[in-house]
Amino acid sequence: MTAPKIKLHKGDLPAGLSFPKGVAIDTETLGLKPHRDRLCLVQLSGGDGTAHLVKFDGKSYDAPHLKALLADPKTLKIFHFARFDIAVLEHYLGVTTGPIYCTKIASKLARTYTDRHGLKDLVGEFLGIELSKQQQSSDWAAAELSDNQRAYAANDVLHLHAIQAKLDEMLTRVGRRELAQIAFEFLPTRARLDLIGFENDDIFAH
Ligand code: MN
Repeated sequence: MTAPKIKLHKGDLPAGLSFPKGVAIDTETLGLKPHRDRLCLVQLSGGDGTAHLVKFDGKSYDAPHLKALLADPKTLKIFHFARFDIAVLEHYLGVTTGPIYCTKIASKLARTYTDRHGLKDLVGEFLGIELSKQQQSSDWAAAELSDNQRAYAANDVLHLHAIQAKLDEMLTRVGRRELAQIAFEFLPTRARLDLIGFENDDIFAH
């Protein structure tokens, strides 16, 4: 495997990037509560071994190129646990992300033989790659990201296209691709419910 290329950008993506195979996206924040813990980093990859890291200083979230990509109806956005990332993107960038593919939802619908649906589990099982989660809870607001932080952040998007392909085969095998698609389409609504305080309520429950 060739070493991934990591490109760091301040405040927005550069103009002129295109992602014909869809774009894998992840976010890093200061914590798990979108209203309290700000968005620090958005990672993106076209599935070509390159990761783009967009770093935010917290003063401005005016990122026209990134926002246009997130809302572009022709570009599929691939996440692992999209529910959290799209809530954060909605809250800080004021943009509703779509269309969406979520590898965690696909895994839950396709891999009923296990309850292990973490990114680390999928990358291990499908690609035989051992992902380190060591930098997960590090200070993403630091003025300079360390080499370890950059490598960790990039790893969260570099493998999502390959995982999506494997999960699509499995979803087809069990006849749940359409169900997965409908679940993906509900994600912006689920994220909006989270942001207004329904994060721990199942509104469908009796
Ligand atoms: Mn991450």
